[in-house]
Amino acid sequence: MTKFDYVRPSTVAEAVGLLEAHGDDALAIAGGTATVLLLQKRMLRPELVVDLGGLPGLTGVEQNGGGLRIGALTPIRAIERDATVRSSYGLLAEAASQVAGVRVRNAATVGGSVCFGEPQTDLPPALLAMNATATIAGSQGSRDVPLDEFFLGPYETAREQGEVLTHLSVPTPVPGSGGCHVKFTLGSPENKPVVNVSALVTVDASTGALADVRIVMGAVGGVPMLAHKANDTLKGERPSDALIAQAAARASEEADPIEDLRGSVWYKRRIIKVLVERALRCAIERAN
Ligand SMILES: Cc1cc2nc3c(=O)[nH]c(=O)nc-3n(C[C@H](O)[C@H](O)[C@H](O)COP(=O)(O)OP(=O)(O)OC[C@H]3O[C@@H](n4cnc5c(N)ncnc54)[C@H](O)[C@@H]3O)c2cc1C
Repeated sequence: MTKFDYVRPSTVAEAVGLLEAHGDDALAIAGGTATVLLLQKRMLRPELVVDLGGLPGLTGVEQNGGGLRIGALTPIRAIERDATVRSSYGLLAEAASQVAGVRVRNAATVGGSVCFGEPQTDLPPALLAMNATATIAGSQGSRDVPLDEFFLGPYETAREQGEVLTHLSVPTPVPGSGGCHVKFTLGSPENKPVVNVSALVTVDASTGALADVRIVMGAVGGVPMLAHKANDTLKGERPSDALIAQAAARASEEADPIEDLRGSVWYKRRIIKVLVERALRCAIERAN
């Protein structure tokens, strides 16, 4: 680890000021589960570490009129255990419960998971399936970025260097909705996904048709990917085995996995097909 100065600001404005003033020489840190490893390996060599951990009002989950407000510093473990999240935003709780092991989940924050922009993650696909929006504070004020515009590439997000993610907003799923997060791993303690799928569906109770479908695939490209063709295949239709299989095949074609230590492109496409089918069946069952 190289030497750096350390500061723990007490307001968001102070954090933004420091990050902006020091530009690429400054590093924001929240739970530290991703950054400390990179600091140890000298893959990050900041002159200043700005510890966001002391910022007030950025921790916790709050249900308001239209949905859920999740403070950026909320530990992933708190999402998994929160009663409101579990009852009304089950997809999110399920994805949170599948991140790493309990020790990492206790330290890692929701904001860190989103801002890191790592392709092999669980919460970002679930948040994207739930149509979440990120609120980012900068020197010019706050701006809202829908998550489908937030992830730009591997480890690259719409957050600018001087900005701090303050919270995420998740709309309350409409009645008749069900969600499911399924994941395939190599079984290592790290538990990072080879591939995962988050699906949120809404079933029209009167017709049994799928009024809305949001399938998101994780670790199959540089960013979590909405499976547009698969979603369009299902929207407005009554789900059948054949239709679900067709949608899963389309999702597998749409995905853009790379060959790496976790598997070949062919292998990952096969798994995507299986996981999309599983996630859809599970989400539809929960919606019903
Ligand atoms: C052993 C291990 C296993 C893991 N397994 C999984 C897994 O199975 N599934 C999974 O999804 N993830 C997994 N992860 C990744 C883990 O979820 C991330 O490391 C974690 O979410 C990052 O959160 P953090 O608070 O620790 O972020 P930090 O390490 O503090 O920061 C990460 C990045 O986000 C930036 N950042 C953090 N918070 C903010 C903010 N509020 N505003 C602006 N920028 C910010 C930092 O500058 C940094 O670039 C694993 C990690 C480890 C170490």
